[in-house]
Amino acid sequence: MIPITVVDVRDAEDLVVEVLRSGVIAQGPMVKRFEDAFANVSGTEHAIAVNNGTTALVAAIQALDLRPGDEVITSPFTFVATLNAILEAGATVRFADIRRDDFAIDPDAAAAAITDRTKVLMPVHLYGQTADMGKLAPLAAEHGLQVIEDSAQAVGASFQGKQAGSFGIGCFSLYATKNVTTAEGGMITTDDDELADSLRVLRNQGMRSRYEYEVAGHNYRMTDLHAAVGIPQLEKLDQLTAARQANAKRLTEGLAGTPGLDVPRVLPGREHVWHQYTVLVGPHAFLSRDELAAALTEKGIGNGIYYPKIVFDYECYRNHPQIPDARVEDFPVASSIVTQALSLPVHPYLSESDLDTIIETVREALGA
Ligand SMILES: *Cc1c(COP(=O)(O)O)cnc(C)c1O
Repeated sequence: MIPITVVDVRDAEDLVVEVLRSGVIAQGPMVKRFEDAFANVSGTEHAIAVNNGTTALVAAIQALDLRPGDEVITSPFTFVATLNAILEAGATVRFADIRRDDFAIDPDAAAAAITDRTKVLMPVHLYGQTADMGKLAPLAAEHGLQVIEDSAQAVGASFQGKQAGSFGIGCFSLYATKNVTTAEGGMITTDDDELADSLRVLRNQGMRSRYEYEVAGHNYRMTDLHAAVGIPQLEKLDQLTAARQANAKRLTEGLAGTPGLDVPRVLPGREHVWHQYTVLVGPHAFLSRDELAAALTEKGIGNGIYYPKIVFDYECYRNHPQIPDARVEDFPVASSIVTQALSLPVHPYLSESDLDTIIETVREALGA
């Protein structure tokens, strides 16, 4: 069996034991140490640790003081947390279709979705490659929009040398399957001193100093135990990412030319950190995407369909007052990608023979 993800946090043992022995187990010095290391990796002035990636997004929106009816533009092809966070923060959601080459918001579609209520542009850096920030950042600037980057899958990724999460407010997830994990956890990155201060206050019940409340806040705190799990991974992030990149290169070399299959692309100027290695199984392939997924599962090769439907295409979001005019047919690219995308194992712990097995099994299944 070749799993789609492997979690290995054994090297955190010493730090976790240190926290246990110290007796400071809630948010304390280890969180601070983790935040400093994270700010260093993301190339930002500040990193604010929170309890998961979803609350990172919620807090980022809340810190912007939007009014009811203010709009956030995001991708219809993302994990549901992106959408849920916007709804939780009380904003109205507008979607902009994606591009087939990077699976992220199409800057032209984003421009077309801007109204006079738009306040935030929230691209999702899907699978470990950033959205087209060369177009999206200037578009936001031109219209006076804040940029919140859903960087949950993109720790260490960059666009023309600038890190994911450093173009605006970066929101990261540290969930068990993400490239860096604390089991559950999240991180918010920013260069803005005032915003960082607001986020720290918001995270801790809106409390500036003991029983001095400035805003109606929440408990978004990370614990020192969780921070201890994450620190060693940041120290070896370059190494882990390089292993993912080498695996992706090998998969692409092996799978290129398979009839009906599109291998993922690394676009010029972007550093891809391969949270997922996602192929597209086209309409003329020998097997459909779902058939290929079943064939791989049967042969013991882990795989994943991220994501099987457009994010709002569920009963609970239909006629939702904060999701006006969202119709599946208005997003033709995302609509086609949800039927074709299939992720294959690319994690750092794959062996040479695992990679060969994945390549051979996919090629054989598609009649190459
Ligand atoms: C994982 C993920 C999130 C949410 O993170 P959690 O830590 O699970 O709350 C948000 N957006 C995207 C794109 C994700 O992949």
